[in-house]
Amino acid sequence: MSNSVTYDVVVVGGGPAGLMAAIAAGSAGRRTLLCEKMPSPGRKLLLTGNGRCNLTNTGDREQFIGHFSATGPFLRNCFAAFFNDSLRAFFTALGVRLREEEGGKIYPASGKARDILGALLHAAQKNGVAVRPGEEIAEIIVRDGAAAGVVTARSGAIAAAKVVVCAGGMTYPQTGSSGSGYELARRCGHRIVEPRPALAPLYSDDPAVAGLQGVSLRNVEARVTDGARIHGADTGDILFTHNGLSGPAALNVSGDVYDHLRGGAHISLLLNFRPGTGVEGYEKLIAAAAAENPVKSVKNLLRMFFPDRFAAAFVAACGVDGERKASQVSREDRRKIAERLFGFRIMLRGTGGAGEAMVTRGGVSVDEVNPKTMESKLVKRLHFAGELLDIDGKSGGYNLQAAFSTGYAAGMA
Ligand SMILES: Cc1cc2nc3c(=O)[nH]c(=O)nc-3n(C[C@H](O)[C@H](O)[C@H](O)COP(=O)(O)OP(=O)(O)OC[C@H]3O[C@@H](n4cnc5c(N)ncnc54)[C@H](O)[C@@H]3O)c2cc1C
Repeated sequence: MSNSVTYDVVVVGGGPAGLMAAIAAGSAGRRTLLCEKMPSPGRKLLLTGNGRCNLTNTGDREQFIGHFSATGPFLRNCFAAFFNDSLRAFFTALGVRLREEEGGKIYPASGKARDILGALLHAAQKNGVAVRPGEEIAEIIVRDGAAAGVVTARSGAIAAAKVVVCAGGMTYPQTGSSGSGYELARRCGHRIVEPRPALAPLYSDDPAVAGLQGVSLRNVEARVTDGARIHGADTGDILFTHNGLSGPAALNVSGDVYDHLRGGAHISLLLNFRPGTGVEGYEKLIAAAAAENPVKSVKNLLRMFFPDRFAAAFVAACGVDGERKASQVSREDRRKIAERLFGFRIMLRGTGGAGEAMVTRGGVSVDEVNPKTMESKLVKRLHFAGELLDIDGKSGGYNLQAAFSTGYAAGMA
């Protein structure tokens, strides 16, 4: 069956990038159709921030770019056109009150991701966007080197002057982002940088952390190493789980862990319990604390760095007697403790896969996409936006801002 209506713009995917692209195109007077393959749009958006939706961050543009992996600079142009201030103004104008939390994270004041999705759907409707749920795009029609429409399983061919593909990554596939967008792009000649999990929990069988489930450490530096070099680092909270580690700092280094484990290296995490303090700094701290508290046990002395439940694991890893009085600790033992405080080693065996990772690293190569308009450099009038692109950021609102900014750039173009 062929569809008689011709659209100016067809948007593939009703996540944050697709909704923003459709709203921008609609607001510019373009006849816009948004096709979402799931029964309702924005399913992943509803899960964000534990259902509270950390939609952006107050950081400046360069800080943002520093929170993305190697392709972050690609975002500079679209951030210049539509950044966190524009996004906040956009939602405020739609009647959504926003709230800033620790680390500059921005949430809806209601604490409900549903309110963000509701506002986007309302804006889409207001701007005349036709939203079709349950409509999966199977193919992009390319004629004479330019996009000319899409083909859906249900409605057949739909003609359009422009196509914007915002089909997301490949993680949390039950939300609809199952990686089908990569195939659509590949068939248009685009290079796909291998999609792989990022912002995923870390798995460890290291006896040093067995039994620590539920223990959390505040503000530690986590460095990824193969023993010779550091392959990524982040500072933040860590949570021990039944099979490894989670929490922002663990999630943020997981993409690097995945890449290096896959390369066959033995990868471990080195935790520094007071970021910025080196081995000698720790030696001095311990010596000063021991002089002040000579009868305290070593284990109790270490409470200044981490919670009780962690202290036993730490002392065992150092190979020192935790019950010994602080005044009796030898210089050699002090050195051992200081070295572990600077780099407490946890061997890793893997990371969560597509079912657990919050974002996908890899995707449509940004080398083949115009950073201002998100237009393909290979096929005219074909645009890409959101997580489908080879862009991934740390946790903290960076990924949603990238989806909104790239979506806006594609929609306005
Ligand atoms: C549990 C979880 C929590 C998160 N929390 C945060 C957070 O708090 N802050 C943050 O910044 N980021 C967060 N993220 C990441 C963020 O959700 C994504 O980066 C963002 O949703 C990407 O937006 P997108 O529009 O590009 O893709 P998606 O949101 O994945 O949307 C893509 C849409 O396209 C549809 N689709 C796919 N293929 C087709 C097709 N062929 N035809 C039609 N439709 C199709 C899908 O069904 C889907 O609805 C979180 C992710 C997860 C999984």
